[in-house]
Amino acid sequence: MRWTPGDRSNIEDARGRSGGGIASIGIGGFLILLVLSWATGTNLFSLLGTDSAGPSSVGTSGEVRTTPEEERLVDLVDAVTRDAQKTWEELLGGRYQRTSVKLFRDAIQSACGFAQSATGPFYCPGDQKVYLDLGFFRELSQRFGAPGDFAQAYVVTHEIGHHVQNLLGTTERVQGSRSGANSASVALELQADCYAGIWGHAASQQGRFNAGGVELEPGDAEEALRAAAAIGDDRLQREATGRVMPDRFTHGTSAQRVAWFKRGMESGDPRACDTFGTTTR
Ligand SMILES: [Zn+2]
Repeated sequence: MRWTPGDRSNIEDARGRSGGGIASIGIGGFLILLVLSWATGTNLFSLLGTDSAGPSSVGTSGEVRTTPEEERLVDLVDAVTRDAQKTWEELLGGRYQRTSVKLFRDAIQSACGFAQSATGPFYCPGDQKVYLDLGFFRELSQRFGAPGDFAQAYVVTHEIGHHVQNLLGTTERVQGSRSGANSASVALELQADCYAGIWGHAASQQGRFNAGGVELEPGDAEEALRAAAAIGDDRLQREATGRVMPDRFTHGTSAQRVAWFKRGMESGDPRACDTFGTTTR
């Protein structure tokens, strides 16, 4: 992928103050509340406006210990987000509203509640932001065997796809749906994969880099396909438990994720991303 670092205006950097309400009470207070909550059976964290007891991460507001490699990832996420938002502005016109990526470490308080890095990157419709711990890219590369900048861009643009769904009212239609291979939840996730492919289609046009955008290079598409295949429900379940449980699917199989990403990438047309089957069924 060819791209140039920008002004980071698509990033909200909360790496130095992650941990939400826990930071303000300190580690000692955190442990006391944890013990009291356990002893009394009451979640005392809720009194502090923290939805649940998180890990013992204590925010060091402002200070971010980082490396040149990590800073390069921040620039990458900013460049991809800027480019993807421009693409969606062109596709949706006035219906598109800008989002930003909120970077955090370990844990964070979002409008969707308290979240830990282990949950993976997510989009919160409540504050219309994408949440990302850059450590996930290490997981993607080492644990899931999907390295590369376009694999990382796929993760970011999948979440921006959820933002598009929220703007178009698709998310709302699906709320409260159960898991399972034929569930609306799976359709929503596969559509976000397809939307990531829509951006991939735009980024594969030549001349983008010289115009200040992100441009794909040969071999990039394979990186994203490898990532999509690595995080399919069937593969993750088999790795974790040794068997596949379709009634617990939330994101779709590896084959489905690859197929829908490809479909977006080849067509460049959001109408091709009708994973709910409203026009085919
Ligand atoms: Zn998703």
